[in-house]
Amino acid sequence: MIIEGDQMVRIGRRTFEQLISRDAIDHRIGEMADDLTEQYRDLEPVFIVVLNGAFIFAADLLRACALDCDIQFVKLSSYQGTSSTGVIQQILGVQIPLRGRHVIVVEDIVDTGRTLKYFAELLRKEHPASIEFVTLLSKPDCHETRFESPYIGFEIPNAFVIGYGLDLDGRARNLDSIYQLRDESP
Ligand code: 5GP
Repeated sequence: MIIEGDQMVRIGRRTFEQLISRDAIDHRIGEMADDLTEQYRDLEPVFIVVLNGAFIFAADLLRACALDCDIQFVKLSSYQGTSSTGVIQQILGVQIPLRGRHVIVVEDIVDTGRTLKYFAELLRKEHPASIEFVTLLSKPDCHETRFESPYIGFEIPNAFVIGYGLDLDGRARNLDSIYQLRDESP
């Protein structure tokens, strides 16, 4: 991976350019955390962080929420390389009962929405009091199912993005801002 200033990253034959700066991410996370704190005060919600991509977003968001809460992790994966395989696998599970609890799922990005649809169906079987979704990024042009939430960090165009937790085959998660694919040389 070659990082060129703040604006450009090269990985192999792919070039990425910065889409969302670290300052913009920090500012938006502060707003989302304030809204969540206000909305879930006294409800002791259960945050379920969807690994791997949401780990950096969740770490920053949850530390900014002044809430008494549980934090659980699941691993759901449908992506290989730069496109979705359409097959979602759940690898880690939730370790506590969710019946009657207010559940908040924390995602890095909603693309087709298949991952969240699949996970929402599993969660409903546990009879939580409520289910809400928080995502740092959403690609509305790619949604195959209706996705609405008051907690969407940024709506972005239909482009492959990396950084701030999002990877390209396991690489680039540690970039501190979001970069979008600009071109791929043959
Ligand atoms: P969906 O099921 O909504 O199509 O895909 C959700 C998952 O696919 C996300 O949690 C993320 O892991 C992965 N994904 C979707 N779009 C992108 C993208 O642009 N970049 C990266 N790195 N992962 C993505």
